[in-house]
Amino acid sequence: MAANARNMAPRRVLIVEDEAPIRRMIAFNLVRAGFEVEEAADCAAARSCIVDRCPDLVLVDWMLPDASGLELTRTLRRDERSRELPIIMLTARAEERDRVSGLEGGADDYITKPFSGRELVARINAVLRRTGSTGEEVLEIGDLRLDPVGHRIHAGGSEVTLGPTEYRLLKFLLENQERVFTRGQLLDHVWGGNVYVEERTIDVHVRRLRQALEPYAADRFVQTVRGAGYRLSAS
Ligand code: CA
Repeated sequence: MAANARNMAPRRVLIVEDEAPIRRMIAFNLVRAGFEVEEAADCAAARSCIVDRCPDLVLVDWMLPDASGLELTRTLRRDERSRELPIIMLTARAEERDRVSGLEGGADDYITKPFSGRELVARINAVLRRTGSTGEEVLEIGDLRLDPVGHRIHAGGSEVTLGPTEYRLLKFLLENQERVFTRGQLLDHVWGGNVYVEERTIDVHVRRLRQALEPYAADRFVQTVRGAGYRLSAS
């Protein structure tokens, strides 16, 4: 199974909390759980962090000095760049009544203080899974690696250049290794259901993908399954 292992690039979490001891406790727990963290003590700092480099998830405290966490959440939801950014609201017990409006404001989940580091990490992982923001994982099979962040593919230590369609096709197959897809299914997933493309077009792109990977003998990974379709396999 080692050949199919997916290496997770570290996920970045922005912690927006004005109380430094709580912020540091959260940061400590997240770093220990393998996350990268950034810290902001108010909404203004949080917004500039997000503009600099969008994190994978934001923890927003309900009570902040310059605006409420709810207002920050609403602002982030209105902005194109952060519209789909997963947000977890941190609330104190006295603010429990406000949780519902936190969710209405666009948060994906909330967690009540005091919470354990383990509980927080579990909730973060659940939200990341649910919101499907796993797009930054490095995907690999054998010595073939695709890095979606840098949009780069390496095979046997050399960089491989692919056209945009072959790139999407390879990425989809890497995300779904060992599964057989019919041409129709590949059309839906890689080309999108609304585009009119003949099924034989897929064969053309598969051939191009194999040619690009051939010098690295990685062509053996993209397998034709007679009467069914295609499969990416390590065997
Ligand atoms: Ca606070």
